Amino acid sequence: MRREILPVLLIEGNPRDAVLVQTQLLEFAPDEFEITVVDRLSRAQQQLKESAFAAILLDLSLPDSSGISALSRTKAAAPQVPIIVLSGIDDESMALHAVQHGAQDYLVKGRADGHVIARVIRYAMQRQRADEELRRAHNLLEQRVMERTAFLKVTNRRLHEEIAERERTEETLRKERDFSSAILDTVGAIVVVLDPQGCLVRCNRYCEQVMGYLEAEIKGRQVWDVFLEPEVVARVQPVFGDLLVRKSGNKYENYWLTKDGRQRLIDWSNTVLVDSQGAVEFVIATGIDITEKRATEELERQHLFDLAHVSRLSTMGQMATEIAHELNQPLCAIASFSDSCLRMYDSGKFDPQEVRQVLQEIGEQAQRAGEVIRRIRKFVRKEPAERILVSLNELVSDVVRLTLVEARWNQVDIRTELAEALPAVKVDKILVEQVILNLVRNAIEAIAHAGGTRREIVIATGARDDGTLEVAVRDTGPGLPQNVAENIFQPFFTTKPQGMGMGLTLSLSIVKAHDGQLTAEANTGQGTTFRLVLPAIKI
Ligand code: ADP
Repeated sequence: MRREILPVLLIEGNPRDAVLVQTQLLEFAPDEFEITVVDRLSRAQQQLKESAFAAILLDLSLPDSSGISALSRTKAAAPQVPIIVLSGIDDESMALHAVQHGAQDYLVKGRADGHVIARVIRYAMQRQRADEELRRAHNLLEQRVMERTAFLKVTNRRLHEEIAERERTEETLRKERDFSSAILDTVGAIVVVLDPQGCLVRCNRYCEQVMGYLEAEIKGRQVWDVFLEPEVVARVQPVFGDLLVRKSGNKYENYWLTKDGRQRLIDWSNTVLVDSQGAVEFVIATGIDITEKRATEELERQHLFDLAHVSRLSTMGQMATEIAHELNQPLCAIASFSDSCLRMYDSGKFDPQEVRQVLQEIGEQAQRAGEVIRRIRKFVRKEPAERILVSLNELVSDVVRLTLVEARWNQVDIRTELAEALPAVKVDKILVEQVILNLVRNAIEAIAHAGGTRREIVIATGARDDGTLEVAVRDTGPGLPQNVAENIFQPFFTTKPQGMGMGLTLSLSIVKAHDGQLTAEANTGQGTTFRLVLPAIKI
């Protein structure tokens, strides 16, 4: 195989040495090298710019440069080309120094023959190539290391970001959990969390305090086993089942038993939590202990009831004259009928048919008197509070009967406009009658006091658009001046010399206790209208 000719640049300041090297090389390797000779560094630099060389033979004693400087500058001009330094015998140490600074090898002039020079050139080229490859491999490795390092840095940064994000999320979750727990444990309501089987998952501190159980004691047990009287379980379970089926909240009131056996009345608001599939996961029941509140309400109701009774007795006291008069009429009639009966008997001749008729009249008048007494006794009787279904029209008619005498004496006409087919109301009959009686008697007094010529009271019943029922008592009295209208429901407010000022206050309390309303308004023409509104019962 033909070897390729290697271009070699010989930089030699001494022409004789240059010829010697050339001659030696041509002698031993005639076809291997093509030698270009220059005698100074500047020219060498020029040559290196113009042509490519496989190797450089460099003399370190050039006219324009010498020593390590000559080597550095040559290397700078051709960094990839191997340089073999040519040295004189007496500066071999300088040659060695040059090798340490990047020369591939050195030759001592006159000591090497052509064969050695050629071999040194070849080895230098091989070493240079090997160095090059090593450098390339090293660079590649460094690049890979750099790329890998950069990748690891990015991965590491992401990892740090993820860790920080997770820590932030955990912190947020922890705060939320602490927040929820704090609310749960400080709220003044019983909170119990149940699973769909009714087993207790969690309860709050307030629940523990009220019911006397620790959460750990009852966790996992069905609430009805722990808190309910056995006989009410069957009533409560359907309410719980209804929550699971309808998956919406409900409200409920029932008694729970504390650990020491006391009953607490709890007003529950229940809600459900569903999972991502829509199945009920938990039931959350929030309860307010209304035991004391209900007892107070009961007491207030009893007070109201007692007060209403006293007020009824007082009303009847005020109406005593009218009542006596009402009783007097049948009694007088009885006396006069029995007189005529006696007269007929004493005369010795009487028509039995006529006597029979007079006796019948006596019986009817006695009935009438008995009816008045019965009505009054019923009104003043103190019966236990009981709400029954009644017709408003019936209540109005009862009141009208009680006030007829008083109205007549005051020349007041009482007219009723009773709506037909009204739904019933569920009320304490006597108490609501008392309210209507109070309104009607106030109306009579107002008309009597005003002394006008139109002296009429209209009592109308009817159904309103919102489904409630109304009794309106409209009079032709003086109406309500602003200062009176503002105060009529205040306790002890009265404009009457003998008034107590408690009638409307008590009436309003009775109406409120029936979830109703009582209002007064001046009529457009004359007088006042009082409206009593009560919820209707749909049957
Ligand atoms: P009292 O009848 O003992 O005064 P009420 O509480 O029943 O107590 O009434 C308070 C006041 O309201 C009455 O004194 C009167 O001034 C006013 N009032 C009540 N009803 C009417 C009415 N129909 N017309 C005008 N004023 C009325």
